[in-house]
Amino acid sequence: MSTNEIIEKLINGEIKLYEVEKYASSANEATDVRRMFIEKVRNVSLENIAKYTLDMEEAGKRNIENSIGAIQIPIGIAGPLNINGDYLNEEEIYVPLATSEGALVASVNRGCSAIYAAGGVNAHLIDDKMTRAPVIKLNSSTDSVKLKSWFENNFSKLKEIAESTTSHGKLIKIDPILIVGNYVYPRFTFSTGDSMGMNMVTIATEKILENIPQELNAHVIALSGNVCVDKKPSAINFIEGRGKSVVADIIIPENIVKSKLKTTSEAIEEVNIVKNLLGSAVSGSMGFNAHYANMIGAIFLATGQDDAHIVEGSLGITTAENRNGDLYFSVNMPDLPIATVGGGTSIETAKESLNILGVAGSGKVNKFAEIIISVVLAGELSLLGALAAGHLARAHKELGRGK
Ligand code: NAP
Repeated sequence: MSTNEIIEKLINGEIKLYEVEKYASSANEATDVRRMFIEKVRNVSLENIAKYTLDMEEAGKRNIENSIGAIQIPIGIAGPLNINGDYLNEEEIYVPLATSEGALVASVNRGCSAIYAAGGVNAHLIDDKMTRAPVIKLNSSTDSVKLKSWFENNFSKLKEIAESTTSHGKLIKIDPILIVGNYVYPRFTFSTGDSMGMNMVTIATEKILENIPQELNAHVIALSGNVCVDKKPSAINFIEGRGKSVVADIIIPENIVKSKLKTTSEAIEEVNIVKNLLGSAVSGSMGFNAHYANMIGAIFLATGQDDAHIVEGSLGITTAENRNGDLYFSVNMPDLPIATVGGGTSIETAKESLNILGVAGSGKVNKFAEIIISVVLAGELSLLGALAAGHLARAHKELGRGK
């Protein structure tokens, strides 16, 4: 069938958008057909969405349905960044950041420059897990308690069942197992290798649930009961961690705080306390930081991560301490779901960005986690430095006027 004939059938409602592949000669033609259909019915030009290099055949298998093209987000580069981590020790890391927010790359770059002069970030991966927590309905709280005990008493068997569905996923624990009356929320916790793991743990969890004894009369209401907690900010993820949990810190000598950040450690400490700690506390914010989401978002978009997880990456606490003029500065992220394998990481531009960082493929995800927390530190330091410098400048101006 010709392109025009398929478009006509779409317009007449004879075929649906998701059926175009059946009539088109390739995934690329199907993409063109849908886009041209939208151009026609919406009377718009999509000439820029039409320009892309990624392989729609491959993307259509795992990343996108009803494709019409691709968007472009500019990528800038920040660095070099030097990191003293447990999984990497490198001096020359250049970081691709995809964003349309002007000044973000420049700001992260300034942070990298201060870090470089100070000898590098200390970065540590402190925990690693992915969770899935279904909600299961029983007849009574007595049966809920029985189901909880069943999970606890059969852990080894359930681990074997879960791990029969994957070669990289490992069931670590089922914890907590929450009970609300006749509903049970077991939080299945896995290690997932270099993948982010949501598909993997969902499949494994489903297999476990098939094995609940019939006499308990249990009904799985939803495979996710929101105790996971996937793609929402949550206290449980803050406390227990999810994805990678990472910490990074640095001591920046007084002269570098002055020359690179144009401020003092004392001023940065004060801004951090009143903004990131007190301001977040009075507003009920779960992010005790200035803008982790900016760095997480830009790295996630560049490297093919699940962008809905930016919200989880926005959790965390920044600390800043004036140590006799030098600055002790740390960032803490309990909830960073990332991958170097699977999901969107195989999209061509994502793979190229992962290659810039040297973390494409198996055996690289821990290194990637240490890079991300270091970039977050660079961006956070730069913004707090800028706020502190502005606050100092204003204070000086006002003092000058008073004289
Ligand atoms: P995936 O791409 O579905 O699975 C990862 C695959 O990589 C597994 O098949 C695994 O094989 C294989 N693999 C090869 N080498 C590996 C290594 N070194 N480490 C780990 N795995 C390796 O991705 P996923 O990470 O499970 O899930 C991510 C996707 O799920 C994203 O696209 C995300 O958007 C989506 N997602 C799904 C849900 C959901 O509820 N299903 C929720 C949120 C997001 P084995 O399993 O055989 O080991």
